[in-house]
Formats: sequence, structure tokens, C-alpha cells
Amino acid sequence: MSDTAVKPSTATFDQFGLAPDILRAIQDQGYTTPTPIQAQAIPVVLTGQDVLAAAQTGTGKTAGFSLPIIQRLLPNASTSASPARHPVRALILTPTRELADQVANNVRSYAVHTPLRSAVVFGGVDMNPQSDELRRGVEILIATPGRLLDHVQQKTTNLGQVQMLVLDEADRMLDMGFLPDLQRILNLLPKERQTLLFSATFSPEIKKLAATYLRSPQTIEVARSNSTATNVTQIVYEVAEGDKTGAVVQLIRERSLKQVIVFCNSKIGASRLARQIEKQGIVAAAIHGDRSQSERMQALDAFKRGEIEALVATDVAARGLDIAELPAVINFDLPFSAEDYVHRIGRTGRAGASGDALSLCSPNEKKQLADIEKLIKRPLTVERLQVDTPIAHHENGGRRRERDGYEARGERSERGERTDRNERSERGGHRRSTSFDRPHHRSQPVDDFFLKPYEPSPAARSKAEDNAPAAAAAPQKSAQSKQPLAALLGGLGSSWRNKPTPSN
Ligand code: AMP
Repeated sequence: MSDTAVKPSTATFDQFGLAPDILRAIQDQGYTTPTPIQAQAIPVVLTGQDVLAAAQTGTGKTAGFSLPIIQRLLPNASTSASPARHPVRALILTPTRELADQVANNVRSYAVHTPLRSAVVFGGVDMNPQSDELRRGVEILIATPGRLLDHVQQKTTNLGQVQMLVLDEADRMLDMGFLPDLQRILNLLPKERQTLLFSATFSPEIKKLAATYLRSPQTIEVARSNSTATNVTQIVYEVAEGDKTGAVVQLIRERSLKQVIVFCNSKIGASRLARQIEKQGIVAAAIHGDRSQSERMQALDAFKRGEIEALVATDVAARGLDIAELPAVINFDLPFSAEDYVHRIGRTGRAGASGDALSLCSPNEKKQLADIEKLIKRPLTVERLQVDTPIAHHENGGRRRERDGYEARGERSERGERTDRNERSERGGHRRSTSFDRPHHRSQPVDDFFLKPYEPSPAARSKAEDNAPAAAAAPQKSAQSKQPLAALLGGLGSSWRNKPTPSN
């Protein structure tokens, strides 16, 4: 691997040799100067070389890979209506639906003046419209792994002509248990292809993934791995756990924040906080894995339009969200995983803008704070916050106040999914009434997309059984998906590149 030094961008979009139709789209977007990741990645991707890039969301990485992909596909672009003339040539995999949707929107706008077609497929929504679009043919396919495998099983798409693969936010895909799905998808792709791996951090698992699937990649790093963007001002406020809701309201008011994401560690904590701050006159909505896809999209769209001031989110739901010029994020809870802190504060200070990352730290969260400082290799500014108007975080006020937050450690994190009957019993209580935050009376999470590796939908399974007795993308048993990461990454002593999974 060769390394590219971190350097500020002095490039211009004109110097990459991009087609006029692409330059016009860049102009439409209002981009004048390439961001550092774009300045470094675009020329390398144009040469066809593999890339291993450490770039946080917010650095402009999507254009960094999309623009040269579009350029490289242009010679094959066809205005023919025939699906055969529009095979999938570039595949972009993302960990979450929201990120897939965002990347797809970007790709669509960058390719708008070309005949290239793009489509996005993700779970949680009807497969049929996606199938229709895929059958018509698309050159650039953006997908989450599980739904893509469903389509492969249904034979609505064929990956046999993919020339370029992007693994976007690869670290998060591994975190979310997508490795078996990735492995299965990679086995369906031609061996001769260009692979681009983007990750916020270079963990040992990512390095292993890169060593296995990338060929002599160019390493590009615009921010050191696990570092936080320098244009984000980070402040930690010491505050009693029971004063946190009041602290959030106070920070939003004092700083006149009109658009802020507030992070909570649990889904129930997020719903409750959104409810509580709404009572204080702040327009808020919660997004997390218990919300349906359309509820999450509605909340996100309303937030982007400025109709919602505070979007209260869990880590999984907020992953990859791109909200232009978000002025601040607030950590209501410090995350259990220090890497999530880096991801969270990457929501602000995007593409060179400045931003504030405000974290509330109660006495019981000192360990999490120490872990974060260790990861980012520097101490954070800690201030005491005098909360003028304390607000009970729980509806039941004092009765629950003692355990507030520290039971939150025991509440389900979105990935941990631990059931807490006491917390669940609060859910039937009165709720606010925006369309984004409707009551849930279900006893189980309805949206487990983020929590499990690929299992084909019943429709896909029966179709596959009808059509393909030895389906290439056979479902993997859940026990396998629980294999230790190291084993899946070849820790058992053998490379898994281009090999079938143990069950296949
Ligand atoms: P990303 O890191 O790809 O999610 O991009 C973050 C944001 O930066 C998106 O809103 C992009 O539209 C924006 N962006 C990307 N490239 C540029 C650029 N060269 N100049 C200004 N904004 C950009």
C-alpha cells in the first residue's frame, strides 16, 4: 500500500479531466473547490486503482467516489431503452437505508446530465417498485446488503458485470454484522474489478478486510483515523444525570439552535427526551430503529426543511445522515463506544463548516469520557453547566429520577436490544401527536433491519426455491453469522477471498 500525505485541497474540479456533463452537475450543486478527500481520491479512482480511504462522513467522500465512477462509466453510457444496454456496472454498498438514500440522491444529481441510470434498494419498503426499476436496467446501484441479496435471489438483478465496487462506511457495516452478507456479495462479483473502501476509522478488522479484498490499494487519509474534525468545537458539560433534560433545553435556547441532533443511547430514551423537550416548546422528533422507514424518512425530511428543531436520535438511526451545515450536535448520553462519539460529532462541522459538539457528562459517565479522550488522543474541555430550570426527564418524575440514565445503561442500546419491561410500560402513556412520532403499542421492535445479518424475505426464499435449487446466494444460518469476526476475516488461518462460506 502506498500512502498519500494529508494535505489541504488546492485543486479545482477542472483539472481532473471530468466530462463537461459532470462539471455542469458539480456547478449545479454549487461546489466550487474539491474537498481534500475529493482532491486525493478523484485522480486515483480515475486511474482504476483500488482505494482504501479513511474519511469521515461530512468530508465530501460521496462525490469523491461518485464523480470518477460516473466518468469511468461514461464510455459505456447508452441512450437505448433496452435493459441489456444498462447492466449494473458500479455497486455501492452502505450500512443503512438513510445513507443509501443519501448516496443515491447525490449520485442521481451528479449523473443528471448523462444517460447513466442509477437506483437504490434497501429493506423495509416494498420490493416490487425496486424490482421494476432494476429490470429496466441501471448502471449504478446503491444498496444495503440484505435487500441486495433479496434481489439477487429473486433474480431481479445480476452482478456479473460489476466493474466497480464501493464499500461505504465499511467499519459500520462490520459493526452491524454485515460481514457474512458482504462476503456473499463479493463472491458474486467479477474478480476483475476496482474496489474502493471508505471507512471512518482503520480498525484492525478494516485493515484485514482491505488486505483480503483490495489489490495494491492507494491509501488516502484526510483525517487521521479516530481523530475528530478540527473545525468542530467540542465541549463537555458536567451535569447531574437528573438535570440533563433541562440542560438540553437550556443549551438549545441559549445558543438559539434551530437545527440540532441530540444523541441518546437508547430508543426509549430518545422517544422520551423528544417528548419532554417538546413540552418545553422545542419542536422535536425522535428517530430510531423502532420507527418505520417512512416515519424516519418523514422526520428526517422535516428536519432538513427546518420544520423540526431537534432531532433526537440513536447512533444506528443517525448513521450517515447528511444534513448540510448542521450547527451543533448534543450528546445527551455519552456513547458506550468511543468510536460512536467520533461518528456522532461528524454530523456537524461538515465539508469545512464549523460546528459545536456539546456533550453532557454525569458523574457516572467519567469512564466513557476517559475512553473518548483516549481514542481521540486529547483531553476535552470540561465545563460545569448550571441548569437554571431542571426538568424531570421521566414522566414519573422523582420516583424514577434516581435511576434515570444509569438504568439507561441497561436499557437497550439499539444494537444490544435488551428488553426492559419497566421502560416498555411507559410507552402506552400519552404521546405527542406529530406524524413523525406516533405511539407504538407493539411489544417487540418492528424494525430489526439494523440488528441482524441477511435472511432472505419469505418472498425471496420461495422464489429462490422455485427457481434456483442451488442458489448462489443461499441464506446463511444465523449461527454462522455469529462466528467471531476474526474467523470470518480469515482468522482461522485461511483467506476467505472468493471462497464459499463454510455452509455453502
Ligand atoms: P459527504 O461526506 O459525502 O456525506 O458530503 C457531505 C456534504 O458536503 C454533502 O452535503 C455534500 O453535498 C457536500 N459537498 C460535497 N462536496 C462538496 C464540495 N466540493 N464543496 C461543497 N460541498 C460539498
